[in-house]
Amino acid sequence: MDSLADFVRKKLAEIKAKSLYRQIAPTVSLSEARVERQGKTCISFSGNDYLGLTRHPAVVAAAKEAAERYGTGAGASRLVTGDHPLYRALEEKIAAFKEAEGALVFGSGYLTNLGVVPALASEGDLILADRLCHACLFAGARLSRAEYKIFRHNDLEHAEEILQKSRAKAGHCLILTDGVFSMEGDRAPVGELAALARKYDAWLLVDDAHGLGVVEGGKGSTFAGGRKLDVPLQMGTLSKAAASVGGYIAADAAIIDFLKNRARTLIFTTGLPPSAVAAALAALEIIAANPKLCEEPLKKARRFAAALGLPAPQSAIVPIVLAEPELALEASRKLMEEGYLVSAIRPPTVPEGEARLRFAFSAVHKDEDVTRLAEAVRRAGISP
Ligand SMILES: *Cc1c(COP(=O)(O)O)cnc(C)c1O
Repeated sequence: MDSLADFVRKKLAEIKAKSLYRQIAPTVSLSEARVERQGKTCISFSGNDYLGLTRHPAVVAAAKEAAERYGTGAGASRLVTGDHPLYRALEEKIAAFKEAEGALVFGSGYLTNLGVVPALASEGDLILADRLCHACLFAGARLSRAEYKIFRHNDLEHAEEILQKSRAKAGHCLILTDGVFSMEGDRAPVGELAALARKYDAWLLVDDAHGLGVVEGGKGSTFAGGRKLDVPLQMGTLSKAAASVGGYIAADAAIIDFLKNRARTLIFTTGLPPSAVAAALAALEIIAANPKLCEEPLKKARRFAAALGLPAPQSAIVPIVLAEPELALEASRKLMEEGYLVSAIRPPTVPEGEARLRFAFSAVHKDEDVTRLAEAVRRAGISP
């Protein structure tokens, strides 16, 4: 009779049977990496606040002041009510930091890719994406109605094979990759992808959600040795190291101008609250001025990996792949008992058979905490 209730009940039963059922646990942030869950205090190694800036006094003060001065909400789409001055300041800051002519801020990283990809590619075009790209790049690709093809993870030869076969038949071509892969922690060969894109007249978009503030002195994956790589579309989020919420794309001025006219997730949605824009701006100023601070998350990740004999990390993210979802859940539960919050990551966030623990390190983690975490992992018998 009630087909809707039947539908969700059946689906939920299927999800539970596969150990893929998810719940959102009430969790209180106490201070920096300390959180309280189910009455227990623990240290979180699950967040992406890589530099601890969500609690930096200058960032908090900027958010408060903006709320008091400009109110708590934006009121409407930026194209309707106009921009408050903080938006311009933030976009100029992003553009300068990314060495691009311009930048455009969206409501989130997810919305950025959902707006940018379909604005640049449509029916008759071709999109190539790394197999382990973030879900929102795939969502953008699907929404675009362009043909999209997946290349094996970080496999330039496979990407070129696809280009050789399919590029000539297509109109435009977009290549999508994460700069730092969110569940793997490894980095894309951005320089080589840029050269490949040039060779086949394709446009490279690098999603650097986990690179900003963390790799290349904080400049992100689109830089190497202090120099900007040939990446026309530098995308990222303001919700991780930048301690706020929002997404951005940095690109040539004409591209930014075009996106203001065509990116539907910018046009048909309300702007960010002033406090969020102010917090991101304050955080970016700290990131730009403190390349040494930006080295800390990677140092902690390396300390952890070295203690366990894992391969040297390339970012602040260290996975231990345990294959089956039950094993990942059990490992996460054991670490929780020891006072560490490390979430189990299961399909569809990662491919089938690749459930894992994902450790994310932050500048605010103390060396002793990292060492003790590694000991707890060893004691619990957690290994790949
Ligand atoms: C987190 C993440 C996003 C989404 O960013 P939000 O601002 O949280 O929406 C996009 N891409 C990658 C690679 C991410 O890790």
